[in-house]
Amino acid sequence: MLKNKKALVTGGTRGIGKAIVFDLAANGCNVIFTYHSSEEAAKSIEKESEKFGIKIIGFKADASKFIDTEKSIQFILEKLGNLDILVNNAGITKDNLILRMTEEDFDTVISANLKSVFNYSKLAIKPMMKQRYGRIINISSVVALIGNPGQANYVASKAGVIGLTKSLAREFASRNITVNAVAPGYVSTDMTKELNEVQKEAIVSQIPLKRIAEPVDIAKVVTFLASPSADYITGQVIAVDGGMTM
Ligand code: NAD
Repeated sequence: MLKNKKALVTGGTRGIGKAIVFDLAANGCNVIFTYHSSEEAAKSIEKESEKFGIKIIGFKADASKFIDTEKSIQFILEKLGNLDILVNNAGITKDNLILRMTEEDFDTVISANLKSVFNYSKLAIKPMMKQRYGRIINISSVVALIGNPGQANYVASKAGVIGLTKSLAREFASRNITVNAVAPGYVSTDMTKELNEVQKEAIVSQIPLKRIAEPVDIAKVVTFLASPSADYITGQVIAVDGGMTM
């Protein structure tokens, strides 16, 4: 489905990002993924990639730093020649009620989750414009649609991602660059591992499909949006949440 396409996925060493890297690769796409710190995890993903018979390469870069973003885009262009698909997945949480939330925790989350999307999209769009083809997929969250107490910084960042998605979709539609967002509900990853059983049961009780998502549930929708099946979709936010926010 994505044979000979070239993708860049941010934050690809674990959780949803890792599932996206492998699902794109399983569909024939060459992938460069970025990682923040875990060199060991990056090497193990590169090794696992041998089974797909195509290139999956890690690159160390902090998505919130513009200079690192420039280096990652240069790296993919040098290694793979062009860039067709950008998946802005890297993200963090620093939860607290707003009265206890520090300015630093607000700024750090906005930089990692929202500014990172600006950084990568701005730089990826240049080569995409040249080839008059590009697919940008941003990972937002359902909390951007409904709010969440204790996550004002995270929710603001993910709502910002939706605004950025729609504006870029309008700016670049004429160049055949589509920009969409995926808004996952609760997904079983390191980000949600702190939830205890009682909290998990409370969450599941609000999900019509009666389960927390697995990373691959999100990855499959990303692959769909990157594929020719989604050529006429842009500026959309697709909630992948088991029906939670319908
Ligand atoms: P995770 O914590 O398992 O993985 C996040 C990845 O992003 C890690 O590999 C981390 O190293 C990387 N990362 C964080 N900051 C970075 C930075 N500045 N530069 C480069 N890489 C960085 O989390 P996950 O659950 O896999 O989350 C992936 C995305 O999905 C995030 O954007 C998250 O906000 C979003 N999301 C997750 C859930 C959930 O329930 N898990 C729900 C909705 C949205």
